[in-house]
Amino acid sequence: MNSSNLLARNARKYPNQEAVICHGRRVTYKTLDEQVTRLSHALLSKGIKQQDKVILFMPNVLEFVVSYFAVQRIGAIVVPVNAKFTLSEVEYVAEHAEAKAILAHEAIFAAVESISNIEMKIKTGQAVEGWESYTTLIENANNTQIDCQLNEDDLSTILYTSGTTGKPKGVLFSYRNILAVAKMIAIEMEVKPESRILLMMPLTHSAPLHLFLMSSMLVGATSVLTPTFTPDLLIDSVENERTTHFFGAPVAYLLTASHPRLQSADLSSMKWWVYGGAPLSESEIRQIEKAFNAELTCVYGLTEAGPSGSLLFAHEHKEKAGSVGKRAPFGTELRIVNELGEDVAIGEIGEIVLYGEGNMVGYYKEDEATKAAFIEGWVKTGDLARFDEDGYIWIVDRKKDVIISGGVNIYPKEIEDRILQFGGIFEVAVVGVPHEEWGETVKAIYAAKTQIDEQELKDYLTEHLAKYKIPRLFEQVDALPRNASGKILKHQLKTQVVN
Ligand code: ATP
Repeated sequence: MNSSNLLARNARKYPNQEAVICHGRRVTYKTLDEQVTRLSHALLSKGIKQQDKVILFMPNVLEFVVSYFAVQRIGAIVVPVNAKFTLSEVEYVAEHAEAKAILAHEAIFAAVESISNIEMKIKTGQAVEGWESYTTLIENANNTQIDCQLNEDDLSTILYTSGTTGKPKGVLFSYRNILAVAKMIAIEMEVKPESRILLMMPLTHSAPLHLFLMSSMLVGATSVLTPTFTPDLLIDSVENERTTHFFGAPVAYLLTASHPRLQSADLSSMKWWVYGGAPLSESEIRQIEKAFNAELTCVYGLTEAGPSGSLLFAHEHKEKAGSVGKRAPFGTELRIVNELGEDVAIGEIGEIVLYGEGNMVGYYKEDEATKAAFIEGWVKTGDLARFDEDGYIWIVDRKKDVIISGGVNIYPKEIEDRILQFGGIFEVAVVGVPHEEWGETVKAIYAAKTQIDEQELKDYLTEHLAKYKIPRLFEQVDALPRNASGKILKHQLKTQVVN
């Protein structure tokens, strides 16, 4: 079984079930499968072969889903690329992946129109010079079944990392990797044919794509797509489409929590409010729960693990909000280890490592980086954490964000959580900036609705934190830079500081 013949199976089983809803377009599994088959024929007729790489440059739209499955149906490898990437970033991926073709959506096509290092270029809407029309290709292609012999260990997808830690790396997945994490979510989060999954986070990221689109497709549920995220769109989609599941980055929840429409919104259809991809502090969780009048579920993981890692269910938030829960029940093993790869004792800080079918095959064409990403078959997460007495995992910080000042380790997350409790500050990043004597010193950069009195903030922190953790430098900004999945771009802040 692979993802694409899974779709064909659903088309036979639930032909009239709505598969995708986007922008008022409603497509059944039968129609979706027909479009996939037609596009597959078109790609074959253009010379795309098994194992060729095909870039998708699209927001969350119906054509993304059709293209994703069409590329996989012919055994080619799909390379979904962040819809916010610039021309040079897409060119980098095209070159690194040796991509044979690109499928772009007309709404963002202007960014890549002049791309030159790729042979076959297809765009939705009308053809333009050098680019064929996706629409015309689909109309002219035939709809006879394609029988491409694929098995679960064949390569299916390369997801390029967001680049928050350097140049994007191509994370390579087999069908087995993807289906393993999709199955885990379908079971754990009760995804059923009658479920309606709201997909607002970019499908170019592993959590929305593998955990939620794929679990929806796996069981024959309905996927409701929006090309962007806004609190208004979230509320409208839940109310109009009666969605049951939503996955969002913490920032999506925080933005919606303070939206004036939320209080009177009808969110009664929602069963699973899921967040992940970045931390939420306990105080933020309480604020969101109150505003949404709902309980949240947390998923933790990283692209390289599919991204399956751990889950903190809604009922566990009462006692353990701020923890990332326990290991995902199906297929994933999780340990916290020291530098030698040995398990640490309860309460001790170590690095989370993950083992399971969801783990990537490796980084595409990066043997050294692949070797460094694993320890005896376990994916190294780069996340420092500890177990509590009850077996719950508490992330202390990302290894690369730890500040070393005068030889002492300082974990920014602890300081950030405290700053968020000061009141009025809605986002914060604590980073290490170069210091002649101590190597690094602590700087806090934050955004607030009103001007924050620096001395008051300092006094507050002095009350709650050891002296060496108090930031020496403070800066108030309008907003912190974030990537498409809502993560604060700390390395960018550091560069800004140094300059
Ligand atoms: P890049 O590899 O380019 O730096 P990235 O690491 O940001 O990108 P992801 O794989 O999306 O890409 O992020 C995984 C990381 O996100 C985890 O290692 C962890 O630090 C953080 N993370 C994910 N989920 C959670 C969560 N629920 N709570 C806290 N942190 C989380």
